[in-house]
Amino acid sequence: MGADLHCHSLYSDGTSTPKELVDLAIRSKFSALSITDHDTVSAFDEARLYAHENGVRLIPGVEISSDHFGESVHVLGYAFKSDALDEFCSFHRKRRVERNKVILEKLQKRGMEVSEEEVKKLSPSAITYGRPHIAQVLVTKGYVTDIGEAFKRYLGEGKSCYEKGERWSVEEAIEAIHKAGGMAVLAHPHLIKKGALVRALLDLDFDGIEAYYASMLPAENRRWVEVAIRHKLFITGGSDFHGSVKPHSFFGSSWAPEETVDLLWNHFSSHA
Ligand code: AMP
Ligand code: ZN
Ligand code: FE
Ligand code: FE
Repeated sequence: MGADLHCHSLYSDGTSTPKELVDLAIRSKFSALSITDHDTVSAFDEARLYAHENGVRLIPGVEISSDHFGESVHVLGYAFKSDALDEFCSFHRKRRVERNKVILEKLQKRGMEVSEEEVKKLSPSAITYGRPHIAQVLVTKGYVTDIGEAFKRYLGEGKSCYEKGERWSVEEAIEAIHKAGGMAVLAHPHLIKKGALVRALLDLDFDGIEAYYASMLPAENRRWVEVAIRHKLFITGGSDFHGSVKPHSFFGSSWAPEETVDLLWNHFSSHA
């Protein structure tokens, strides 16, 4: 039982189809699943019926790259009305196109020729494009040996070809999720290195926090569970599975407790 509430399909930067993700949930004996693509909710509609037929409760999910005073913060949205975030997501996908152009210009200045067409051609199913798609082209063209190197040398935060781009503020992301009838969760809080930033974020209107993440150590899990209890936040969990582009993160390596799954499913069912 339990559920993987954080994974990506090939509609963003994962490599599995939505149905393949449902199959992985079935094989893991999970009672539920949420596909949290970056800035698109298309996977939900596609896999909904298949999940239902196979007894998997598919909860609408999304991951929104947001900004808190210049710092990158990921906000997860769950159990919203399934089409109520379409416009919000598509607005940010357009901003991503502009950001990607700047990244490609920066790469070109350093002698690495990558065109938008090459990025699209290599990931034809993607609806949201970002740095992992650009990284894959850098690998196929031999500029780097793997995606990790692409991030470490050029695309990671603060590296020479990094571009932040325009982002939603964390408050805007939370508000949009709430307006769509959903619940907002602070994603992978252990990756936020500044303690003051975590404290500031915990004062915002989050409903939950991702206390179980990928291969997080048990001591870290406990720390975030305690934070959740102190701040009256529900606890979610997931693997952040991306398929073969991030081979070190396995589907089902972390999962959410059944009570959270029930809470989110009942919330979603109340307005579905
Ligand atoms: P973007 O949405 O364009 O900012 O890209 C962020 C995504 O890149 C994350 O959600 C991860 O999937 C991926 N990513 C970030 N850092 C790395 C890394 N070092 N290696 C592989 N993928 C990464
Ligand atoms: Zn991703
Ligand atoms: Fe994330
Ligand atoms: Fe993610």
